[in-house]
Amino acid sequence: MPERKYGKEFGFNTRAVHTGNDVDKDSLAIKRPIVMANSYELPYDPTDINWSSAGKNLYTRNGGANQQYLQEKIASFEGAEDCVVLASGVGALSGLFFSLLQSGDHVIFSSVTYIAVYRLLNELFNNKFKIETSITDTTDLSAIEAAVRPNTKLIHIETPGNPTISISDIKAIAQIAHKNGALLSVDNTLASPFNQRPIELGADFSIESLTKYINGHGDAMGGSISGEKKYLDIIRAQAQINLGAVISPFNAWLIMRGSSTFPLRMRQHNENAILIAQYLESRKNISFVSYPGLKNHRGYKTAVSQMSPGFGGVLSFGIKGNKDKHNEFVSKLRLITSAVSLGHDTSLIAFLGANDERQYLYPEEFHNGFFRFSVGIEDAKDIIKDLDQALEKVGL
Ligand SMILES: *Cc1c(COP(=O)(O)O)cnc(C)c1O
Repeated sequence: MPERKYGKEFGFNTRAVHTGNDVDKDSLAIKRPIVMANSYELPYDPTDINWSSAGKNLYTRNGGANQQYLQEKIASFEGAEDCVVLASGVGALSGLFFSLLQSGDHVIFSSVTYIAVYRLLNELFNNKFKIETSITDTTDLSAIEAAVRPNTKLIHIETPGNPTISISDIKAIAQIAHKNGALLSVDNTLASPFNQRPIELGADFSIESLTKYINGHGDAMGGSISGEKKYLDIIRAQAQINLGAVISPFNAWLIMRGSSTFPLRMRQHNENAILIAQYLESRKNISFVSYPGLKNHRGYKTAVSQMSPGFGGVLSFGIKGNKDKHNEFVSKLRLITSAVSLGHDTSLIAFLGANDERQYLYPEEFHNGFFRFSVGIEDAKDIIKDLDQALEKVGL
């Protein structure tokens, strides 16, 4: 049977099931197997092989079979020419920064980002490699314009931003970046490519923590960078082959399996999250709810213009009361688990206390500690019941 390809002419659900999968030619298994061998047989005369080149059938750090199948699927989700999958979301972020930036370059990045972005850019790259940084409120286009310098090489945004769920305008920021000769990378983890595809909106790179929605089952780590091949060849050579942030074949296989149901799960996350956001908004003793699907969210209009069909499963909210009240409330939850991470099948809640040094950059309501809530795919009524009984038990 000829190799089967599932390109853009197929819908998202079909590609989630089929892209990157095929009948295994040796065993005739209808799912591609895990290839754990880390080395492949060399040709009769290996003298011309470049040991730093990418591609399968050499050595797994240069490119393993399972990693390639997954890359094909993620590139298809993102509408991208190429994709590299790496060991974790942070591996993808650090790989991107390491490969693109050099001493003397300037980077603008969102004041709301995953903590590792702040550590990497503002501490490590800044101190070690003399990369200039501007932490900017990227929900404000004029603030970005004002931050641009002649040596601005990259604008990195996260939308929705973790943990305040802030919304930045991808299309408008791509225009600012390109007008100034810079590139735009978007951490798309919270939206996922089911709801938002940054490359189609003009960004140069879309980054996912595959650990979250795309795997979706909370049992593997991975990250991806999607974009043009001319950049990804460099990233693959530097981040994967030379820095060694390669994904394990087993994790690539697990993520491949989890991602078959990715669109189905996302629909349920989207549906549940809006119901829970509305419930929290209407409930007494909730001090604020931040979810881009709510009309009163600061970024609602932008979210509607760039996210579809939904707004993802992550929201943040505050309750009235001090730190003890927050901890007491969490201890009364029966269905929802207190843990970091997001995008799992199960609902996860994390109290983000007042010890984030970037808190002063967040809107005022976040200053006394708040919850990041990753709404799972359980029945919405059961999630709401759990929140409600816990709030009641602590007198809220
Ligand atoms: C979790 C997360 C990451 C990091 O991904 P890992 O797979 O944990 O390394 C990066 N960005 C965002 C927005 C995340 O939520």
